[in-house]
Amino acid sequence: MYISKSFIPILKNIPSEAKIKSHQLMLRVGMIKQSSAGIYSWLPLGLKVMKKIEQIVREEQNKIGAQEILMPTIQSSDIWKESGRYEDYGEEMLRIKDRQNREMLYGPTNEELVTDIFRASVKSYKSLPQLLYHIQWKFRDEIRPRFGIMRCREFYMKDAYSFDINDEEALFSYNKFFLSYLKTFKRLDLKAIPMAADTGPIGGNLSHEFIILAETGESKIFTDKRIFEVDSSGSKLEKKSLEDLRSKFEKFYSVTDEKFDKAEFETKVIEKNRLITKGIEVGHIFYFGDKYSKPMDGSVDLPGGKKDFVKMGSYGIGVSRLVGAIIEAKYDAKKEVMKWPISVAPYDISIIPMINKNDKSSLEKANKINLELEKNNIETLIDDTEENFSSKIKKMNLIGIPHQIIIGKQTENDSIEFKEAGEMSQKLKLSEIIKIIKKQKEEN
Ligand code: ATP
Ligand code: MG
Repeated sequence: MYISKSFIPILKNIPSEAKIKSHQLMLRVGMIKQSSAGIYSWLPLGLKVMKKIEQIVREEQNKIGAQEILMPTIQSSDIWKESGRYEDYGEEMLRIKDRQNREMLYGPTNEELVTDIFRASVKSYKSLPQLLYHIQWKFRDEIRPRFGIMRCREFYMKDAYSFDINDEEALFSYNKFFLSYLKTFKRLDLKAIPMAADTGPIGGNLSHEFIILAETGESKIFTDKRIFEVDSSGSKLEKKSLEDLRSKFEKFYSVTDEKFDKAEFETKVIEKNRLITKGIEVGHIFYFGDKYSKPMDGSVDLPGGKKDFVKMGSYGIGVSRLVGAIIEAKYDAKKEVMKWPISVAPYDISIIPMINKNDKSSLEKANKINLELEKNNIETLIDDTEENFSSKIKKMNLIGIPHQIIIGKQTENDSIEFKEAGEMSQKLKLSEIIKIIKKQKEEN
């Protein structure tokens, strides 16, 4: 792709309304455009990143046996009246009326709708467990939308729901998601820590938030530093293995402020291991038993002929918020260098030829190299403008493509200037560059 033909509206200056680096960068390189308070359009660069995140989330859901569905954004108020949440949810819910004067709403979450789908079709314990998820826009009329897409009103979320016959099986489902979340965030090159959390309006008694450390985060956290060293590799999708995994983390005190208890913190964590800091919530899982299945009559036949309400959990990941969260974790605002993890980078490599009016030979070389890269499924962005070299590099550093190739008059195929964004360059053969990038992509 030529930069001159791409829709990447780069701004010269940092927009003054943006207070944190992810919001600043996303506006600056034209990833998003605000359309009204807390509501954004996603432009090509932003959408490319978000779609790659979405795909990783999807793959990790599928790996634990969850099945993808797609529920609508607009819901009827009837099911929310059944569960008793219609009044409780308060002003965060956007309520609308259709032309027949029916009360509708833009879904902030989908426990009711998915329970309605479940109860219509599943009648026997033999069909359990069921793990269903969708990736869909949500609307919450947040009182103070801020920080760009980090806390906005319309956002893109993966939400999954589990249905089980009893508590034991339901906890097994919960733990499957626990593992799947650790794997998802790892593939995004993020260190997300599971922390005991409050259940809020979802209800229930068991819950973890997955938090990445960031000064600009809105969650205050209290942890034992050693939780960052827990190794989650080697866990299997078996009850015992997953219980062990959770207890490896739960051994260390780690909570958000709603669950914080000073005395408990100080007894459980010796001073040198205490860490009080801030983080960004990127995922949240809940177990709430029959909180929805009971009022909504989501029951199944049990082996002995009796009936019981299914035990449910729900599991969210902020897919759109993750775009900002990765920037908060990876963008060096001082050097003005962003480097997307290769797994979600909008392009794998940028090609920066030095071009002037009279000499287009380096652009021709760039085109040839591009052809070779494309054959290997390596996606490129070529800066075909006549801007000076340093502003080209600056621009690419902001866009955050992880690798760069620089092409001058002297460039030959067996000695190409190659660098990681923000690092020193080295001379490599094209075949070696291809090998490096392919290897990185395969590792994800
Ligand atoms: P928060 O405490 O940040 O408001 P929440 O507990 O209300 O989040 P959930 O209902 O668990 O969030 O939603 C699942 C995920 O969706 C969250 O972990 C977060 O990543 C994302 N999310 C929630 N609210 C927003 C929002 N207003 N803007 C962007 N992402 C959001
Ligand atoms: Mg919220």
